[in-house]
Amino acid sequence: MLVVQKYGGSSVATPERVRAVAARVVRAVRRGDELVVVVSAMGDTTDDLVALAAEVVGDADAAVRHSREMDMLLTAGERISMALLAMAIREAGEGAVSLTGSQAAIITDGAHMSARIKEIRGDRVRAALEQGNVVIVAGFQGVSAAREITTLGRGGSDTTAVALAAALGADRCEVYSDVRGVYTADPRKVPEARIIPQVSFEELLELASAGAQVMHARAVEIAAKYDVDLRLGSAFDTGDDTIGTFVTRKPQRMEELVLTGVAAKSGQAKLVLNGLPAGLRTVTAVLVGLAEAGISVDMISESAGSEGRIELQLTLDDELVQEAGDLVSAMLPGMGGGGIVVRRGLSKIALIGSGMHRRAGVYARAYRSLLEKEIEVYAVSTSGITITVLVEEARQDDAVQALHEAFTLELIGEDPATGAAAGER
Ligand code: ASP
Ligand code: MG
Repeated sequence: MLVVQKYGGSSVATPERVRAVAARVVRAVRRGDELVVVVSAMGDTTDDLVALAAEVVGDADAAVRHSREMDMLLTAGERISMALLAMAIREAGEGAVSLTGSQAAIITDGAHMSARIKEIRGDRVRAALEQGNVVIVAGFQGVSAAREITTLGRGGSDTTAVALAAALGADRCEVYSDVRGVYTADPRKVPEARIIPQVSFEELLELASAGAQVMHARAVEIAAKYDVDLRLGSAFDTGDDTIGTFVTRKPQRMEELVLTGVAAKSGQAKLVLNGLPAGLRTVTAVLVGLAEAGISVDMISESAGSEGRIELQLTLDDELVQEAGDLVSAMLPGMGGGGIVVRRGLSKIALIGSGMHRRAGVYARAYRSLLEKEIEVYAVSTSGITITVLVEEARQDDAVQALHEAFTLELIGEDPATGAAAGER
């Protein structure tokens, strides 16, 4: 099997950790796998380099004025960890060679600090594999057609790993961090949270965008597009390699599973425009006005008010609500009147699961559980595999807990503390 493994910053934070990763890699090689290993910079190295740049230039805008040089600086972080890991693997008795993103022919566009991968030419990596090496590739970086060194944006090593796996036709991409997989809810908030054994790309993307601490969303998109099977797990787990979350196009699991996870994001707000003249023209004008100001709207709902007037509700990031409110207020007289109410301090709770599709009673169960805890819902929206509700920020944890319980998510998989499957404890 050809496997791409990716190790995050905490997994290679110290010399001991680098040696521990080398031992894991060597174990896989001795099982007969071919390995390409993508590494992040050690520990907080990238943050430290960013801080260093800020100190030298005197403010936090080094990235704005010196984006090319920031890329030169930041790529040094991954260069350190890749070289050290290659040494550690060689010391453990296996062949290893490290390559920068540029040497591995990860070709990107020219956008410094937020480059996109355009192409990966795998020949050099393949040649090094054929010579019996583990190939270590620096994460988060590439080279543009103009031969400038680029980086993919913070957290971009996940993207490097998945894109490499796709380009090489790897059997699997394993992404290791300090968490043991994707949880049904934040385990710091919900003690009953479990590691989801299997999840689909779509579900993982929804969980990521809903605020769950999982992979870089771009990496998941690439995995979905090129059908790269993923395994997410902890580099600190030494024993059982089956712990973790497997991500595939079509997970195999019990049919009765309605939801796979609940995620929460605070810092949301709602804008209610009431007494607007009815008609598509008004709504369109509001949306175009906001779009032109670069304000992204999240949920939209419209309802009939009195006397042929309508009420339009928009939800958006709390940071944007002031600007959005001012802008719309200024538009109201020209549109024929209307009022505006702003509600801040809301949280977005997303219920995710492909099993909810075409199933009766999912809303009922969700609402009943919120009602029992007297949690008010301020807005709701759905997509095929997600129901999103807005609640008061102060009730966020209660809401997640209530929904986790209502959909018995504790039955989904292993207990992260003991590793025991649910029901076996
Ligand atoms: N070292 C980079 C960062 O901290 C890339 C990564 O870790 O994925 O953002
Ligand atoms: Mg990092």
